[in-house]
Amino acid sequence: MKLSVRASRLVLMLVLAVLLVTLAAACVPEKEAGDRVGLVVTILPQAEFAEKIGGEKVKVTVMVPPGASPHTYEPKPAQMTALAEAKMYAKVGSGVEFELVWMDKLMATNKEMVVVDCSKGVELQAMVAEDEHAEDEEEEYHGGRDPHIWMSPVNAQIMVRNICAGLIAVDPENRRYYEQNRDAYLKQLAEIDREMRDGLTEIKNRRFMVYHPAFGYFAMEYGLTMLPIEREGKEPTAAGLASLIEQAKAHDIRVIFAEPQFDPKSAEVIADAIGGRVVLIDPLARD
Ligand code: ZN
Repeated sequence: MKLSVRASRLVLMLVLAVLLVTLAAACVPEKEAGDRVGLVVTILPQAEFAEKIGGEKVKVTVMVPPGASPHTYEPKPAQMTALAEAKMYAKVGSGVEFELVWMDKLMATNKEMVVVDCSKGVELQAMVAEDEHAEDEEEEYHGGRDPHIWMSPVNAQIMVRNICAGLIAVDPENRRYYEQNRDAYLKQLAEIDREMRDGLTEIKNRRFMVYHPAFGYFAMEYGLTMLPIEREGKEPTAAGLASLIEQAKAHDIRVIFAEPQFDPKSAEVIADAIGGRVVLIDPLARD
């Protein structure tokens, strides 16, 4: 009888102990999440950069979600909450409309937040204009500058360095951790750059047609010529389409690239006219 009481007490203590450990374990991730450095970025490729460098030490919030366009997106209340708690904002800095329209308001929401400009050290290029006539009008779009800097793996390396420097500034305790992650990731990016360079050297036809002109920096890096379908953020006119079809035929283009953020209709019209096909390619993919 005595033994059985002692045994049941033991069982009770054991149950309590297990319960306590379970509770403690359940609490840990939450506490850790709170300790993470809140880091806000504008677009998904930056989220990839930030997470590769920050690992488990950061909590990354992306302003422009998958499928949305940074040329038109407006932030949601939940994102403003994340922003209010963030230590750092890594902006693209190259004239992305979302930032031109929202950056001042976002910064006013959280005045303590450190703002890092990812484009620092990147040579900004003019938006590709197809012909003389288009050039004046293109000036209006993006202020004449091409904001899609992240599309070049070489620029991506500069952006990664900028994000890392920002993280070290807001969280110097974890400097070594960030630097090690940064260096490992820079190696990967350099590898991608080498693969692109090697893979594209032998290509004879160096022109490609794409709906939204997001590949200017990529084209420049590898000696390619981008022929954009969209003009100043608008669908081409009937005359514009006819001219694009002519160009595609003249340059023996058989694939028309289009981005999932945009209506592929005009890309399909051109592809049909040249007996080619449309291939979707995402300039805002994380990877
Ligand atoms: Zn774009």
